[in-house]
Amino acid sequence: MITLKGIAAAPGINIAPAYKFGKEDLEIPKEQIRQEEIPVQIQLFEEALISTRREIIELQKRISTEMGQEEAQIFDAHLLVLEDRMLIEEVISRLKKDQINVAFIFSEVLKKYIEVFAKIEDEYLRERIADLNDVGKRILRNLLGKEHKSLKDLKERVVVVAHDLAPSDTAAMHKQMVCAFVADIGGKTSHTAIMAKSLEIPAVVGTGEATVKIKTGDILIVDGTMGMVIVNPDEETLRNYQEEERKLKGVAERFLQVKDLPAVTLDGKEVEISANIELPDEIPSIKIHGAHGIGLYRTEFFYMNRKDAPTEEEQFQAYKTVAEELSPYPVIIRTLDLGGDKFLSQFEMPKEIQPFLGWRAIRFCLARPDVFKMQLRAILRASSFGKLKLMYPMISGVEELRQANAILEECKNELRQTRVPFDENIKVGVMIEVPSAAMTADLLAREADFFSIGTNDLIQYALAVDRTNEKVAYLYEPAHPAVLRMIKNIVDSAHANKIWVGMCGEMASDEIFTLILLGLGIDEMSMPSLAIPQIKYIIRSVTMAEARTIVEEAMSLSTAKAVEHFLQEKLKAILK
Ligand code: PEP
Ligand code: MG
Repeated sequence: MITLKGIAAAPGINIAPAYKFGKEDLEIPKEQIRQEEIPVQIQLFEEALISTRREIIELQKRISTEMGQEEAQIFDAHLLVLEDRMLIEEVISRLKKDQINVAFIFSEVLKKYIEVFAKIEDEYLRERIADLNDVGKRILRNLLGKEHKSLKDLKERVVVVAHDLAPSDTAAMHKQMVCAFVADIGGKTSHTAIMAKSLEIPAVVGTGEATVKIKTGDILIVDGTMGMVIVNPDEETLRNYQEEERKLKGVAERFLQVKDLPAVTLDGKEVEISANIELPDEIPSIKIHGAHGIGLYRTEFFYMNRKDAPTEEEQFQAYKTVAEELSPYPVIIRTLDLGGDKFLSQFEMPKEIQPFLGWRAIRFCLARPDVFKMQLRAILRASSFGKLKLMYPMISGVEELRQANAILEECKNELRQTRVPFDENIKVGVMIEVPSAAMTADLLAREADFFSIGTNDLIQYALAVDRTNEKVAYLYEPAHPAVLRMIKNIVDSAHANKIWVGMCGEMASDEIFTLILLGLGIDEMSMPSLAIPQIKYIIRSVTMAEARTIVEEAMSLSTAKAVEHFLQEKLKAILK
């Protein structure tokens, strides 16, 4: 039995056998295939060659601008390997003859080539071994990535163990089959972790070495609440965990009793509590947990795990369904937030060195008005079927807001001209998740209908801590005085301009911060639905006067640790 410590990414405990998954896993499976599978395998091989070619050309372009033409020429040799007819033909003919999966055949052929080259006296040819190795690995990774069974196709309940998981991998998981997941890398507010919470799949990320220590088939206890993974537990540990699971359910019962009641303080101040969703499939679950509306619909997940981008009509149907199902409660649709840790194959998005600081969210949309307008029109059309609002992600200043609004206005005019109905009074908000927006909230508040604070990004940008990097996770501190001051500034600026301000970052779902957010005057808290009952319970247990006193004291402390400790004590007193 061994225990791995990681970051608690999504709460809950589950016990099941491990299933290792991922591109980085270059253990190449050997699988016999049937005659009729040969064409598909050849196609996989061709696609892997094309993807590898694309990767190398992209890399070459980057190196050329960053380091110079000469350094970039190294990759010409890599590209030549991809065009080596002898190698390609040998793979295809052995595939036909041996009827074994193409990744295995390719790795064998590659090995043979490397052995032959290693024996040759010619120095130039021997140097080609490094190129062969490098390109070979790239091809294999692309092959395994494509060839790997999708997480959609699992046939038994497992714990998925991976080096890293893309948000799209998580989105493809089925709760019935994936009962937990564990990753070597990743942070608490990465979109992979957020998706796990929405799907109610316990998850531990940032374990560092799970893929080294765990084999497929090992029995795992995944404790997503404490951030622990126990590999091949003994009898006693198993029993203790089963007991712990029962206790957790007992605590949850207490909160569930208030889930359908309003989140109103003892002295009568009501806070709106809504849910964050990634996919419309989550609607039944958010209703069960007592959400009064959707405060953040992350629409980009709708574009994932499919070949083509959704059409305007498809988007319209999806948004209409969400609007109708939630009516009379409001739904805030966040426009496309691509980039960062979310990429789509439909749009050619270049690999960037700092994707969170790069071509992301509203920046992408303003550069691709064709994609943006299609989504805006779909949202506008759906707005006549319920209470829809829309908001833009990653606005960094007034200018971007104006540009986005100008495009929205064009869409409205197009619809007016064709007499397509939409809500003429649709509210348009700004996500405050970039420090420059937080510091100019007073200026933005004059031109926005509402704000929603995206703490996941705001914290990463304010504290210069990558939200997906486990190595700096200890610095990711929502209670940092800088963050608290920014939130205060945002709320005060919004209220001074008489606009509503919500919070849809994960901070809104962390019970430690409920009292301080309440005291700061946040109008709405939007969160993964699992958290709703507990947050309602806390709000219903205090007065606004108490919450304001807590704010005053917390804001006078100098460190995040001191703030957290103080808030924890206050919360304990309330929950006892
Ligand atoms: C945020 O940044 O806090 C947010 C809610 O948006 P996302 O997590 O999708 O970046
Ligand atoms: Mg964000």
